[in-house]
Amino acid sequence: MVPSRLEILGCPLDRVTMAQTLDILRGYLKTDAFHLVVTIGSEMIVRAQTDHEFREAVCAAALVVPDSIGAVLAARYAGYPLRERVTGVELTQRMAQELGPALRVFLLGGAPGVAETAAHKLLSLGPGIHIAGTHDGYFKDDAEIVAKIKTSGANVLLVALGFPRQELWLTRHGAACGVQVGIGVGGTFDVLAGRVQRAPRVFQKLGLEWFYRLTLQPSRWRRMLALPKFALRVLSGGKQAVRPMASS
Ligand code: UDP
Repeated sequence: MVPSRLEILGCPLDRVTMAQTLDILRGYLKTDAFHLVVTIGSEMIVRAQTDHEFREAVCAAALVVPDSIGAVLAARYAGYPLRERVTGVELTQRMAQELGPALRVFLLGGAPGVAETAAHKLLSLGPGIHIAGTHDGYFKDDAEIVAKIKTSGANVLLVALGFPRQELWLTRHGAACGVQVGIGVGGTFDVLAGRVQRAPRVFQKLGLEWFYRLTLQPSRWRRMLALPKFALRVLSGGKQAVRPMASS
């Protein structure tokens, strides 16, 4: 049961903490159905304004957790404060630590070799966690990958292909993969594998993680243009921009 859901510029956002997210995932793992979990950020919400297939995928997700500071600030501004961010990196680490023995994880995405290194990191974090398999994110044949995941017996599929591809891939293929949980985790494998550094705590606390990433990867500047766009739309949208949805 998801505590309560907001709609930000037409995209759902569940007002969950990390602990609640882990509890919800525990519940999903006891079922036979596929559940898409989206770790949403401001850039994704801006993308969903014009990409209808992506928006539909996000709207149909079982759980949409607040990955970015933009989502947190927008909710707070509208009077629906969130307790904390639930980022893809932290969710992956905490899942390994707290749901370890219940997990059979398949890691899909990243440059060749990165998912394997990230898997080793998860093994060191989560006693009892089982790595069902890994594959890089530069493949052509979806059917081959789906078959590989299905035969691996995985129950959790982490997909790091960048948005919107990872959410669309999970929407199309998640159920056929036989997993109960599919999460789009963006650059998480790069962080776990030590290829990209997370911003120091002080940047995270000040809501400036995006700025730190920009200094490390200046090529991201074009993507960052979505942030002022997001802020303007939230600020100019009044009560319609961020509003509560019926609880699901
Ligand atoms: N990626 C991939 N296949 C592709 C394009 C990207 O596996 O065809 C991976 C890329 O290697 C990176 C991830 O997708 O690991 C996207 O990371 P990014 O930092 O863009 O994600 P964010 O966290 O910003 O959503």
